[in-house]
Amino acid sequence: MTRLAGRGVSAGIAIGRAVVAVRDARQVRYRLASSGVDRERQRLKTARQRTRSELEEISSRVSRTVGPAQAAIFAAQLLMLDDPLLAARADELIRQERINADWALERAIGELHAVFAREGDEWLRERIGDLADVRGRLQRNLRPGRDPLIGLIREIEPPLIVVADELPPSLAAQLDWTRVGGLVCDIGSPTHHTVILARSLGVPTVVGLGTATQLIGPGQRVALDGTTGEVVIEPSEEGLERWRQRSEIAKSALRALDELRTRPAKTADGLRIRLEANLEIAEEVGRVKDAGAEGIGLYRSEFLLDTANPDAGSEESQYEIYRSLLEAMRPMPVTIRTFDAGVERVQPRASGHRERFGLRGIRAGLQHDDRFRSQVRALVRASSAGALRILLPFVSSATEMRQARSLIAEIVRETGAGESVPIGAMIEVPAAALTVDHLAAETDFLSVGTNDLIQYTLAIDRTDERLAGHYEPSEPAVLRLLRTIALRSRRARRDVSVCGEMAADPLLVGLLVGLGFRTFSMTPAAIPIVKRGLAALDGRQAADAARRALRARSVDEVDAVLAPMADAMHRAAVDGTAAT
Ligand code: PEP
Ligand code: MG
Repeated sequence: MTRLAGRGVSAGIAIGRAVVAVRDARQVRYRLASSGVDRERQRLKTARQRTRSELEEISSRVSRTVGPAQAAIFAAQLLMLDDPLLAARADELIRQERINADWALERAIGELHAVFAREGDEWLRERIGDLADVRGRLQRNLRPGRDPLIGLIREIEPPLIVVADELPPSLAAQLDWTRVGGLVCDIGSPTHHTVILARSLGVPTVVGLGTATQLIGPGQRVALDGTTGEVVIEPSEEGLERWRQRSEIAKSALRALDELRTRPAKTADGLRIRLEANLEIAEEVGRVKDAGAEGIGLYRSEFLLDTANPDAGSEESQYEIYRSLLEAMRPMPVTIRTFDAGVERVQPRASGHRERFGLRGIRAGLQHDDRFRSQVRALVRASSAGALRILLPFVSSATEMRQARSLIAEIVRETGAGESVPIGAMIEVPAAALTVDHLAAETDFLSVGTNDLIQYTLAIDRTDERLAGHYEPSEPAVLRLLRTIALRSRRARRDVSVCGEMAADPLLVGLLVGLGFRTFSMTPAAIPIVKRGLAALDGRQAADAARRALRARSVDEVDAVLAPMADAMHRAAVDGTAAT
């Protein structure tokens, strides 16, 4: 048994067999049940045949168009394909060690690579590049046209634990999560989009383990606690029993929270608070309703761009999705945020790096006008199906908001629908927070994205686990900005909600209530927990704590100010007064 300590970012207990996915999940390793051996051998055989015909085709084309000498490169690659140390060795590994074809191939190539590198022969050493080429072709042909993890997850017996170095959100959005018991990542943070997705699907997750993909072997049994961040590899039989008991306790606690579903959220002294839900995958709307949300406060539409369906971003397909979402939630409001994507998602391969500071959100929307136009058209066309609100991400000035609004107004005129759809702005860039009065004049509502607001205010990349300890929602600088937003939006009589992860923490919600916020949007699973916390909160005590927190000089001072409120909430919640 080995115990690892990471960061719990999505609550719950999971026990299952590991599937290890590395290098953006392009390499996936798992152990086969005996029934899977023939299937994997067949996959390898088919991949080899495909690779052979591709190489033959390339070789004869190059011979015709360039010359036989150049075609010899591919003849050498064909020879490698027949090398008994390659495909035959991989086949042997599948049979003997019962490992999946992708992993067997990776191992056989590794062995062959070592032979090539060891030999004194210059010619052989130079063939290493060709070997990499053959490997890439074989790997692609093992899973033509799709990421291997997507198919594998459907094939392996659940529950499984995905152990990844980093799981990109674009891939996470395509997985069948009903078969995944838990997720463990080498890197990651609570506000990474894959983690946000796992949380909203209720998949227990631990991140920031550093070397989990090296320490956890494919097929090993893994138990994890998404609250404490504990991960155990190959627990003993008694250990496993304790993990099962823990899992039962966690589930029964959730059932106890269930009864809060139909009650409105209120503080102990009667302040009415509105709780809405964040949603990433439209088909999951049932979770929103089950949680007792009063609407959708944030639908992250960019996840649509990541689905396996290449047509998913088309106007028609968006229209259908928005319409059914609005119908499912009617009469409750559905706030759909336009694509918060950088050029790498809006125009694949336009940019090799991730867009954290550059061309993303509404900036990308205004520049890549066509994509934005077709999204807005789909939205306004669907608007008659329910109570739609359009939310614009990454707004940094009133001027930008004005431009976006006039473009939307033009589309509304052309389409002849959606005249009365409210249009709001995300406040997630410090510039927007500081000019919220001007922005309020251009918007119908505001939504505070604390995930980004914190990262840009503190200059801390929210996905960089090396800085995780510095990513502090209760930094005085952040609290001052939040207070400014709450005050000025109230003065401008604009609805304002908080939809970042901060709103899912019952204690921090207490602070946010004290700062003046009354509407929150969060992952559905957090709604009953926050409701319970609020029922134990005294609004006056919260306002007093917030006033003092605003004068604090450090996170420690803020924590000290919040401690009595936290204790009182804890006492009331534990006494059960919260549930009444
Ligand atoms: C935020 O920034 O707080 C937010 C809600 O948006 P996202 O997490 O999608 O960036
Ligand atoms: Mg954001």
